[in-house]
Amino acid sequence: MESEKSEQMKIMVSACLMGENCKYNGENNLNEKVLNYVKGHQVITVCPEVMGGLPTPRIPAEIVNNVVTTKDGRNVDKEFRTGAEMALQIAKENQIDLVVLQSRSPSCGPKQIYDGSFSGKKIEGQGVLAKLLIENGFRVIDVEDLL
Ligand code: SF4
Repeated sequence: MESEKSEQMKIMVSACLMGENCKYNGENNLNEKVLNYVKGHQVITVCPEVMGGLPTPRIPAEIVNNVVTTKDGRNVDKEFRTGAEMALQIAKENQIDLVVLQSRSPSCGPKQIYDGSFSGKKIEGQGVLAKLLIENGFRVIDVEDLL
């Protein structure tokens, strides 16, 4: 008897984890663990910051009093929220089963983010996209929690 194949999932992944150079500094967070994990599944990558219209490279941002703000004081809340909404639509349209996101990003961070002081201090909380996906019932995993 043929062994049962594990079911194919649709997995949304932070684009930088798959090697796309979309990080604020023009680099990526290519992650072998993620590449192995998604093997055999359908992968949809998103970078909400780029989708929201921000350039790469770009000035890093943190969530400051609920408003996404760059290190040099520019309000980029609209771009972050626009990109997150676009990624949410993609997740809905594709009936995504699982989302794997980069840790601590003001967009993608599922568990922790930086505290808005640009001093490297972390707090419990979610980035804009992670929060939106969780609120909409998607199963979201922090890349650091992938086995
Ligand atoms: S917004 Fe998300 S996908 Fe884009 S570079 Fe930042 S962590 Fe990666």
